Amino acid sequence: MSIFKELGLNDEIANALADLGYKEPTQIQASAIPQIIKSTDDLKAFAQTGTGKTAAFSLPILQLLDTNSNQAQAIILSPTRELAVQIGNNIREFAKYQKGVKVATVYGGASIEDQIRQIKRGAQIIVGTPGRTCDLIKRRALNLGQIQWVVLDEADEMLNMGFKDELDKILDATPDSKQTMLFSATFPREVEAIARNYMTNPVEITSGEKNKGTENVSHEFYIVNDRSRYLALKRIADINPDIYSIIFCRTRRETQEVADKLIKDGYSAEALHGDLSQAQRDSVMQKFRKKHIQLLVATDVAARGLDVSELTHVINHKLPDQIESYTHRSGRTGRAGKKGISIALVTRREKGKLFPIEKKIGRKFTEGKIPTGEEICQIQLMKLIDKVKAIDVSDTQINEFLPSIHETLEGMDRDELIKRFVSLEFNAFLNYYKNAPDLNNESAGRDREERGRTREVDENMSRFFINIGRRDGLRPANLIGLINDQKITNNLQIGQIEILDSFSFFEVDKVFTEETVTSFQDDKAEFNGRTVNVEITEKKRTGRGGSGGGRSRGRREGGRDGGRDRNDRGGDRRRSPRSDGDRGDRGAGGDRGAGARFGRNRSERSDRGDRGGENRGGDNREFSSRRRRRD
Ligand code: AMP
Repeated sequence: MSIFKELGLNDEIANALADLGYKEPTQIQASAIPQIIKSTDDLKAFAQTGTGKTAAFSLPILQLLDTNSNQAQAIILSPTRELAVQIGNNIREFAKYQKGVKVATVYGGASIEDQIRQIKRGAQIIVGTPGRTCDLIKRRALNLGQIQWVVLDEADEMLNMGFKDELDKILDATPDSKQTMLFSATFPREVEAIARNYMTNPVEITSGEKNKGTENVSHEFYIVNDRSRYLALKRIADINPDIYSIIFCRTRRETQEVADKLIKDGYSAEALHGDLSQAQRDSVMQKFRKKHIQLLVATDVAARGLDVSELTHVINHKLPDQIESYTHRSGRTGRAGKKGISIALVTRREKGKLFPIEKKIGRKFTEGKIPTGEEICQIQLMKLIDKVKAIDVSDTQINEFLPSIHETLEGMDRDELIKRFVSLEFNAFLNYYKNAPDLNNESAGRDREERGRTREVDENMSRFFINIGRRDGLRPANLIGLINDQKITNNLQIGQIEILDSFSFFEVDKVFTEETVTSFQDDKAEFNGRTVNVEITEKKRTGRGGSGGGRSRGRREGGRDGGRDRNDRGGDRRRSPRSDGDRGDRGAGGDRGAGARFGRNRSERSDRGDRGGENRGGDNREFSSRRRRRD
């Protein structure tokens, strides 16, 4: 007898699972399925992403569902459209041999009329995002009066995304007699509160240790400074030619910037974040699933719905603000029994953030060394040789050219030929990494430098970049006046102001972050004839800070140290060193990528800007055109 039947599931379901290649239940399935089938008690399940939780709650619902009824009996809530679609599709697959099961998947950004039609066709199972589900209830298109099962999937993430009110409304629309099941990888206070308010004596089950990262994931950190962060990222990609990874960033902007740089440097990368249209996001995810992209640069939220089980690495370009997000991020790798590596790129100061994460996941981070150019060349060279060995040769097509090839290469011995063919692919790479510095030493050194300069950050303030500076005649008083002119709110608290040569920074009360950006945009503010552009930027101050900034900072803006800030906002002048590729004369921003990767689409890259090292050169066009062809 199939193990799934032993858990209490019928033949139809067991056969569908066999078709899907499910041989035995995962731990959470083995615990949850019999529990839900035999008992109407509420259920609180600690389940990481990738543990098989979708089947854990869907299969018993399918087993118990009244398929003769056309009433909604189960509502499954998930944080994102992608996840909802994935769950809906999984349920359809599980139910493929069961007659009469109807599933409606409801989410924002798609026609509500179509979704209402799906519901009206008599869907017994509704899978939805909280916002759209609420809308449908409000329109009286969805009646939850007969609901028997409520599943809150990734409850922590739904609360993180601000769906508390929606969840309250939806749960209030369901009968008291329902069974509530809450699946979450982490149980912060807010999730516990939902459990307390809406569940009665829930049975607790777990897919492993609570809040612990999966055993198959090893956790590594690399010490970087803000300038070498991107370079380290590229070296990690270069030392792992078969990398298949999500690179997590904290903001949409950081995501887009990192992806843009990687793409420009010839990596097989794309961005995934909420500023993309749904169609764009779908297309990126599709490409990533099919492995047409190796590096997906994503925000936490956008990557939620992505079900990929073979990631080799998860890279935290920057650590998330919330520890729970690290658990989610790292849980994307090491799935389906495979090993995975979760990497955190941290500055020395950020290293302290690793301790609470270690405590939470119950695992230690090990320190990785950023690979040297030599190590990378060695790996890449052997990869090339392996490829040469494995390549399929089409004799019929090549043979006709052989006589003229022999004639041209006459007189060269085997060694000479090998060297030449290898050099053809490898020279650009070798050149690129020639004299490349050891980023480990560099990160340590510069970070000390930075620490000396960095002052306390006020967590209650948001920091903004503004595209005008001393050269535009800006003084602190003008800037304060300009901010006040936006009438963001009465008595807006303005924090530190730094006026640099051609741009500046200011801080305002964090509560008014969005309002500040939008009021500058809406007002189309100008200063001395220049259109003013304000963007949120990272909260990091260097130098003496305070009003006016001072001359030394003015110099840094153009030199090495100013690079990071320039990178962060991507204004015209600041972008030019990189877009020129081989100039890098404005210092630290000049991080054109690391060398070319064989067999992959990599443009020749130069990391280094003004200090030589991972230098420029090579044939850009060749690699870029290769990328275009592949994409
Ligand atoms: P989930 O945690 O539900 O997102 O599932 C993670 C991945 O594991 C999905 O690709 C599932 O199809 C797969 N999966 C779930 N349960 C099993 C099982 N019992 N055997 C094999 N694969 C499974």
